Amino acid sequence: MSNWKTRLEAGALALAMLALAAAAYWPQAGSGADRQVLGAAKIPAGPYVALTFDDGPKASTTPVLLDGLAQRGVRATFFVIGENVEGNELLLQRMEGEGHQIGLHTYHHKMLDQLNAAGFYAEVDQLRATLTALVGREDFMLRPPYGMMNAATQARAAAPIVLWSVDPEDWSDRNTSRQVAAIVDKAQDGDIILLHDIYPSSVDTALQVVDALLARGFHFVTVEQLFAIRGVTPENGKVYRRLPPPRP
Ligand SMILES: [Zn+2]
Repeated sequence: MSNWKTRLEAGALALAMLALAAAAYWPQAGSGADRQVLGAAKIPAGPYVALTFDDGPKASTTPVLLDGLAQRGVRATFFVIGENVEGNELLLQRMEGEGHQIGLHTYHHKMLDQLNAAGFYAEVDQLRATLTALVGREDFMLRPPYGMMNAATQARAAAPIVLWSVDPEDWSDRNTSRQVAAIVDKAQDGDIILLHDIYPSSVDTALQVVDALLARGFHFVTVEQLFAIRGVTPENGKVYRRLPPPRP
């Protein structure tokens, strides 16, 4: 059973904590007029971006990334592959414990539009069950490998489908400076950034992007937090690429 409303209420609590942290770290952030109010908490006006990492976890690279994110007080979203979770269960529990969001990226990195119903449920539901056993909850967003999907995928998803709006194609080279520039030059409020935590170069890229965008006043949030900030309740089967601020 999915209950995103409950998840969003938990997200709102996390945001209240984010606001407290923001008040401590960014005392200049936002004026009274341009802050959003969520519950009793004042949320910094943004801009906000969500870092997302696909294809992990990987024992040699993911802990380095988690260390770097922890040092910077940044939370991210990890769309994991089931067969990579095997043997890395403690890493998943570390992600959950450190406030990151975990999502589904199929058990064997399959193209979801190529699967029949049985294949879909084996790839997605099996991973969902694995993650539930590890972290004790059932609500996981879905990112289809390669972004490949069709109407049947959406009907079967039983989860919101999260794509991306900034893609530096970090798999195509190991050129951190190119990747950092590709992200930092493009990032806008509400963007969802795609990286892969299985390459050392991508870990370097991610942490350099965090430093560069923090210096420009960006806040890093999980995808769930981005939904909560934008006041959008995620719907199962619906596709989301970015969550921009409402037009004035
Ligand atoms: Zn992938």
